[in-house]
Amino acid sequence: MKKTEYLVIGAGIVGCSAAYLLTKQGCKVTIVDKSYPCNEASGVNAGGMELLQQPPQSLPVHILAAELWDQFQNQDEIDVGYHRTGGLFCVLKEEDLHLLDEQAERFAKNNLPIERLNQEQVKEKIPYICDNVIAANFSPMSGYSNPLKAGVAILMKAKQLGCEFYDHQFVKDIKPAADGNGYVAYTENEEFQAERILITGGIRSPWLLDDMGVHIELEEKHNMITVTEKAPHFIDYTITTPTMTMKQTAEGSILIGGGREGYGDLNHNDKRKDVSIDGLCFNVKEAQDIIPSMKKLNILRSWAGFEGFTPERLPYIGEVEKYPGVYYAVTGFCGYCIGPGVAAHAIKCMNGEEYFDVKDYR
Ligand SMILES: Cc1cc2nc3c(=O)[nH]c(=O)nc-3n(C[C@H](O)[C@H](O)[C@H](O)COP(=O)(O)OP(=O)(O)OC[C@H]3O[C@@H](n4cnc5c(N)ncnc54)[C@H](O)[C@@H]3O)c2cc1C
Repeated sequence: MKKTEYLVIGAGIVGCSAAYLLTKQGCKVTIVDKSYPCNEASGVNAGGMELLQQPPQSLPVHILAAELWDQFQNQDEIDVGYHRTGGLFCVLKEEDLHLLDEQAERFAKNNLPIERLNQEQVKEKIPYICDNVIAANFSPMSGYSNPLKAGVAILMKAKQLGCEFYDHQFVKDIKPAADGNGYVAYTENEEFQAERILITGGIRSPWLLDDMGVHIELEEKHNMITVTEKAPHFIDYTITTPTMTMKQTAEGSILIGGGREGYGDLNHNDKRKDVSIDGLCFNVKEAQDIIPSMKKLNILRSWAGFEGFTPERLPYIGEVEKYPGVYYAVTGFCGYCIGPGVAAHAIKCMNGEEYFDVKDYR
C-alpha cells in the first residue's frame, strides 16, 4: 500500500496542474494515470486559449488560468510553449455581429481589455485575411500553448519538487480506509491510501463518480485537428470564427480546429477515435476561405480526440457528498485553456477556502 496526503487521479492538464500546485504548497502528493501523462485530450488538442467565446460564468476561472499559464512559462521556468499573442474573433455574417457586442459586455464586466475592429482594422492586424470578414473583436489575452509538452513539463516540475507519479494505474474503485485515515484507491496491482483525493479523469471522470453518487452530464465530442507543413511566419494572432479556430504556431505550422467532428464511441471502445474525411475537408475549406494563401500549404496530419462538454459549458468542481475528502475537477468546454484555473480552484475547495461563486457572474 502506498500512502500519501493527496492523491490525484488522472494526469491530464487539470491533474498535472493540481499535482504541481499542491506539491509547490509543500503537500505530499501522488498522481496516477491509467496510461501515460496527457495520453488523452490534454495531449492532442489545439492548444488554443481564446477567452472571447467563453460563457460569462467561466471568465473568472479563465482569468486565473491565463495568469497560471503565464506564471508556469515566465516565473516557474516550465516550458509549456505559452505565447500570449492576442487573438481575433471574426464575424463573416451580419447576423453574427451581436456576438461581438455580447463579448464586449462580458469583457467589460470582468475588466478585461477588448477592442472592436472594423474590416480595415482586421486587415491591418492580419494582412492575408480574406475580404469577407466584416468585423472582429481583438483580445490581447488570447494565445496558445503547446499540448505536446505542457502537461508533461508541469508534471516533471512537480516530480522535481517531490511529487510521485505512477503510470498505468487504472483506478477502478475508491473506498474509505479501514484505519479511518482517508480513502484507498484500488488499481489492478496497487493500492493508494490518501487523506484527500482529487478526481481529474476528464471525460472518463463519470466512470468513478457515478458509483459515488455524483452524476456529471458530459456530452461526448470527437474534436478534430488538422496541421499543415511549416511556413514562414505570416499570422501573428489566433483566429476564431463562430465555427473554427486557427493559429500559426511558433514553429510555423498552422493548426486548424473546431468545425466538424470526427468519430468515436467512448463507451464501446474508449481508445478508438478517428477523423471524418468529409469533416476534415469542410474544416480545411473554412480555414482556407479565411486565409486564402493557406491553399499553398500541404496538410501533414489530422487526428481526433474525445472531449466532454457539460450542458452549461462550465467546469464542475466540488466535493463528493457521500465521501467527504474526495473531490472532483472536470472541465466542460475548452478544458485545456481553463485547466490550470480549474485545478487551482479545486485546491482552494480542498483547503476549505471560500473562492468565488459562479452565480455572481451570470
Ligand atoms: C482534438 C481536440 C482539440 C481541442 N482543442 C482545444 C483547444 O484548442 N483549447 C482548449 O482549451 N481545449 C481544447 N480541447 C479540449 C481539451 O483538450 C480538454 O478539455 C482538456 O484537455 C481536458 O483536460 P483534463 O485534464 O480534464 O482531461 P484529460 O486530458 O482527458 O485527462 C484525464 C486523464 O485521466 C486519466 N484517467 C481517466 N480515468 C482514470 C482512472 N479511472 N484511473 C486513472 N487515470 C484515469 C486519463 O488517462 C487521462 O490521462 C480539445 C480537445 C480535443 C480532443
